[in-house]
This record gives sequence, structure tokens and C-alpha cells, in this order.
Amino acid sequence: MTQRPKSTCETVGEPVRFDERDTVFARERLVPGSPEERAYHRLHPELAEIDRRLAAFIEAVDRPGEAGAQVDAALYQAAFGPIAGLALPDVVDGEVAPEQVEADPARMAARIKALARRLGADDVRIGPLNPAWVYSHRGTPPFFDDYRPNPPYFSGIPQGYRGLKWSDPIEVPHRYGIAMAFRQDRDLLCTGGTPYSDFEVGRVYGLSALVAVQVASYIRALGWPARAHHLRNYGVLVVPVAVDAGLGELGRCGYLIHPRLGANLRLACVTTDLPLALDPPVDLGVQGFCEKCLKCATNCPSGAIPKGDKTVVRGVRKWQIDPVKCLLYWGHLGSACTICQVVCPWSKPPTLFHRLVAQLATHVPASRRFLVWADGRVYGARFRPSSAPEL
Ligand code: SF4
Ligand code: SF4
Repeated sequence: MTQRPKSTCETVGEPVRFDERDTVFARERLVPGSPEERAYHRLHPELAEIDRRLAAFIEAVDRPGEAGAQVDAALYQAAFGPIAGLALPDVVDGEVAPEQVEADPARMAARIKALARRLGADDVRIGPLNPAWVYSHRGTPPFFDDYRPNPPYFSGIPQGYRGLKWSDPIEVPHRYGIAMAFRQDRDLLCTGGTPYSDFEVGRVYGLSALVAVQVASYIRALGWPARAHHLRNYGVLVVPVAVDAGLGELGRCGYLIHPRLGANLRLACVTTDLPLALDPPVDLGVQGFCEKCLKCATNCPSGAIPKGDKTVVRGVRKWQIDPVKCLLYWGHLGSACTICQVVCPWSKPPTLFHRLVAQLATHVPASRRFLVWADGRVYGARFRPSSAPEL
């Protein structure tokens, strides 16, 4: 039996499962004075002040009041709002058909990939699910718990809700992860931290959530357990799942770098026990490339991306971005900033020329320093926002 190639996600000892309550996206939604907020800050008093600043950002997003802001808020609502409906526990997961369809794992993998692509995914890979990538505890109360009644959130726990609540342990017992990548429109992203780039991020998150839910639903109808993981209901960390499945590599900027899409993508995944042929992880040369290229770090307006070496975080050696700095900058903008995703040299349109350059970067390590320099000369070393489209 041939040995599976090593993942570029370098572990040091036993990785420690990440608690979703510790993510900035969970912390920004802690309502001051709520039982969750008090419980969390009893354990982490050192984070109370910074979390209040993060919560102030979400308050501002929820309550746009200035002239013109309603139009921007409508765009946000159109893209992000309905995704919450795809987060309910019986939508991401559910009943499994009593009769099990048996099929050759290779044939079934091909079928699943074809289905996901037909539904809208740009690339699909399948890998083993490392239990270390399963979140340890639920950290996102707002979509189901008693929360401020503004859209796009539910105003309370939906009737009959039986899913996990804040601080409940998360278990995902599946053996495989189906990782899917979805391309973002480069023109909209290049407006850089505007309601238009925000809209595109939400649009692609919405598509990825729907496709993940559809693929999981398909597998359950075949008689096998399956759970979708997407923006509004993650049980796993999708980036390392995608790395293990061979969809790309983790870059300095904290995003997955895909061989054709670069960092200009969003991810979703499905975990399952359906027997599937697995894809090998890939080594595109991104680790070596990022050592020479600091373009995301030098362009990051908040200084969130490290310019130095990798560090070991919960048992994984990687470049660790500072998510608080990043999110506070989003708060300052009033939109998600997408600069690191678009400046990355790997995020070029997939023309024949750019595909050849990517091949060179992968297979000729000695070319990487020159390619970094050439990217700066041809496309500019600094991010320049493009004008906003009619939307
Ligand atoms: S999204 Fe913007 S602020 Fe955040 S890490 Fe990327 S470039 Fe920096
Ligand atoms: S911009 Fe450069 S350093 Fe940053 S992720 Fe892309 S290749 Fe790596």
C-alpha cells in the first residue's frame, strides 16, 4: 500500500482542539451583561475590555443610522441575512435514510464531486477528518439564542430547537471531510473593504452554505450520516480540513491558498462516514513562497498579519494573524476588509499565463524570489482599490 503524502499543515505534538467560544466572531457577539458574557469573562477577565470594543463593532453594523447607510445595510442583508436559515441543526444535519446505498468509494467520490461542482463549487477534494480539527465547544449563540432582534439573526430560539447552545461540547464523529472552494468576484473584492466587497463575501458564503447543505442532504438520502459546516454553523475548522483534503495550503495571511483561486475564495465542507476515495494533500510550494513574499503583511492596514516567522499555536506551526486587530479594522471600515485576499500573488485570474507562473512557483523554488519581485513590478507592491460598480 502506498503511503499517503504528508500534509503541509505541520503539527508539533498533539494538536489541541480549538474552542469556538475563543474565536473573535463568537466574542464580538457576547451581549454585555448576558449570562454567556459574564461566564466567559469570569474565565478570561483579560479579554473583557477588548471584547467590549468588538461588541461595539457589531452594534454599529446592526444599527446603521446615517444617510445612505440603509442602502448599504440592505446589500448586507441581501447577501448575509438568509444564510442564518441554513444554520438550523436539522438543516445542516438530519435524518438518515434507513436503506444504505453501497458503491465503490472511487465512483462515489466522483459522483459527490460532480454534484458539488454542478451545484456551484469551483473545486472539491476529499480527505480524512482529523478529530483535532473539530471545535471543542459551541461558541455562537446569536443565531439561536435570546439575542437582539435585529436581522439577520433570529429573535429567539426557534420552536423545537434541539441543537447545541453556547458552551455545549461539539462532537463530529465522522471519518471524512469533503472540502469545497468557491471563487469570489475579483472586481468586487478589489473595491477593498466597501459594502460591495462585503456583499460579494456574503454572496459567496451564501452559495457555499447552500451547496454544503445540499451535498450533506444528498448523502443522508443515500443512507449515510453527513453534516454540513458553513459560515453560520461550523463544527470543524474548515481550513485545516481543506489542507488535509488537498484543496491547497495555509498561507501567511491565514487563508487557504488554492492553486487556481489563490486566497480569493470561501470554504465550506461536509463531514460524513460515506466510504469515499481520498485525495492526497498537495505541496504547492506556498510555505516557501510566503517566506519570501510579505505582500499581504505589508499591505494589511491593521498590522494583523505577521512579518516574522511561524509560531506554534495549539500544536500547529503556522503564521498566526491577530484576529482582534483585523476585526477592529473591519469595525472601523464598517465592512469586511479583503485586501490580503486580493493582493496575494496567487489570487490572479486563472489565465494560461498565470497558471504557468503558479507552476513555476511550485516546481522551481529558486524562482520564487524573482516571482515575488515581478509581481510587485507588474501589479504594484501596494493595494490600490478599484472604483465601485453599480449595485
Ligand atoms: S482582512 Fe484586512 S485587516 Fe484583516 S488581515 Fe486581511 S488585510 Fe489585514
Ligand atoms: S500575499 Fe504572499 S505572503 Fe501573503 S499569503 Fe499570499 S503568497 Fe503568502
